Amino acid sequence: MTSVSKRHFVELLIDKKRNRVVFAESDKDFVDVLFSFLTLPLGTVVHLLGNRSLLGAIDELYSSAESLDPIYLNSIPCKSMILRPRSAAWVHCKRLGINLDDSDPEVFYRCRTWSEFSARTCCISSYPNCLCSCGQVMDTIITTVLPVVGEEGGDGVFVKGVTRFMIGDDLGLQPVSMAESLVLFKNLGIRDGNDLEKTTVLVGIDEILKLLERSLVSKTPLTDVFLHNADNLESQHCMIQAREKHQMTSTESKRINLKLFLSNESSKVVYAEAKEDFVNLLFSFLTFPLGLIVKLLNKRSCMGSIDNLYDSVEALCSVSSDYMKSEECMNMLLSPKLPPYFGCSSQLLKIDEMLPQKHMIRFNGVKLDKVEMNPRCQNSGSENGGFVKSLVTFMVTDEMLITPFSPIAGVHMINKMIIPINCLEEVAVSIGEVEALNLLKACLNSRKVLSDFISPNLLALLEEKWSGQLPSHSIVS
Ligand SMILES: [Zn+2]
Repeated sequence: MTSVSKRHFVELLIDKKRNRVVFAESDKDFVDVLFSFLTLPLGTVVHLLGNRSLLGAIDELYSSAESLDPIYLNSIPCKSMILRPRSAAWVHCKRLGINLDDSDPEVFYRCRTWSEFSARTCCISSYPNCLCSCGQVMDTIITTVLPVVGEEGGDGVFVKGVTRFMIGDDLGLQPVSMAESLVLFKNLGIRDGNDLEKTTVLVGIDEILKLLERSLVSKTPLTDVFLHNADNLESQHCMIQAREKHQMTSTESKRINLKLFLSNESSKVVYAEAKEDFVNLLFSFLTFPLGLIVKLLNKRSCMGSIDNLYDSVEALCSVSSDYMKSEECMNMLLSPKLPPYFGCSSQLLKIDEMLPQKHMIRFNGVKLDKVEMNPRCQNSGSENGGFVKSLVTFMVTDEMLITPFSPIAGVHMINKMIIPINCLEEVAVSIGEVEALNLLKACLNSRKVLSDFISPNLLALLEEKWSGQLPSHSIVS
């Protein structure tokens, strides 16, 4: 971790009879740390939890990016951009008492050949090993003079003031109120005050990491972490519900084409054959902050208690604008943007990206204003708007194992899965924004991502195709 973490005192009200946390009570500092979960990119979350987020197939997706041969990436830093994505909120989050994001965005890289003259034309990059405009590898650290941000009295990061908050076991949060406490007791069936016990816990970085881990998969993260209720330590994903009837995406919007190979014995997708645009879409999910995912999925991400946490921010802002430090802070939690250069040009989802900022650096006593270069570009040239190289075909399994396509590997995999080759059906699919949202949700909630993300309509169509009523290769979702 980059900074020395503080510890926060948090009071817990415990229902002794049922061995659960009724609610936690704390000041804004602990609430700030909880809210900061929404700013963490998914890839950072998986990294922090040691590749064990337990979210659907996200850990497998992360491992696929980790083991992909860099020759298939647009530049060396692409892998770090997926596995250790930047957060656009880092300037604010570095002021947290406990900041989970251990990337160090104050550090930039330059090439070794800087002189007083070349420093003006050479580049800086937030990731090491990019190629500078002069052709040299950028592997020398240079620190920036940080802009002064959020110094309004140093009062909190997202939340301001001296209000104390009640945080429910499911991360529902509100300012303390006796009336609300009584409602909560009633809802939880607590009649006897003697069943309740107050205790104080000291929360440090270890507890916050556990809270993050349980928040992703459980509706009772406080009980899980502070009472070690082993019965609850399973993930509590909601099942993928039948999808809501979305409007078809307009014909003008971008679409990605892929081929799905289905086993007509089990009605499951075995794998997809796809180009770089589909793989860029999957890898881009790892760069999304949790708050952005909740927003995109209309507060139905089904990630444990994260939807509730998002709701808490929204509810707090609607009660009074005075609780939050600024509108900018509110937007960082409810509509997080991607950092500069993290967007993909073939992205099907509507996502805002921050504009590259100027960074002030000192070199040989001279102050220089520099805009960081696009880490996906080599030699400051152009890039294809994604992480992986174009003109490569990839094989993506139902479980999110992604590898460059090879017919030999494909046959080997099919044999391993004990699927007779003559049972495979090829279906051409074109996905738009709606399907991309279903895909994101399936990645978060399912281990059979491709099978789950195809709309039930498509499966019905396939059954028709298998019964010989439709010509082959004609189905488009
Ligand atoms: Zn240079």
